[in-house]
Amino acid sequence: MNHWEDLSNIGSKELVCGYCGVFVASVTGFYRNGIHPNVCSLRICPNCQKPTFFNGYEQVPGIAPGNSVESVPNEVSKLYNESRRCISINAFTASVLTSRKLLMNLAVSEKAETGKSFIFYVNFLAENGYVPPNGKGWVDHIRKKGNEATHEIVDMTREDAVELVSFAEMLLKFIYEFPARIPPSDS
Ligand SMILES: [Zn+2]
Repeated sequence: MNHWEDLSNIGSKELVCGYCGVFVASVTGFYRNGIHPNVCSLRICPNCQKPTFFNGYEQVPGIAPGNSVESVPNEVSKLYNESRRCISINAFTASVLTSRKLLMNLAVSEKAETGKSFIFYVNFLAENGYVPPNGKGWVDHIRKKGNEATHEIVDMTREDAVELVSFAEMLLKFIYEFPARIPPSDS
């Protein structure tokens, strides 16, 4: 009979939880009777109590790239986290589209005109001092990628999706997290 067994006595497994993003040592969960727990198991996260499924090297849900950013308005934060989660389930094109929407919203929240193209908003962010001087190469790359995808449906890779999430993370830190952390100047 092939059924699930409690693996509490088998020892702990270190993992980064795909739900809460915390590095934990899980001691509770289940494995398939007759199959080694390293091959197939379900591990409970001691931090958030949610289950992660391991099947060989596959981890579901996977680890979302990027880091959490503080002091971000709810709507923006939702898009950022959605884009990260898309990558964790290999939905790269969906992640890229979500990141683009996020960057557009960000530019509009910083007083850019509405109803423009993605490239317009990337240029707006770059020209208005939201990108550090040595980030120009990065902006050019994102612009080029954005143009490519405007006229045809292009399959996006993990690399494309992770790049945009990193870019969004940097902007969110500049626009929301750091200003909220640094005390206002006394002058
Ligand atoms: Zn967790």
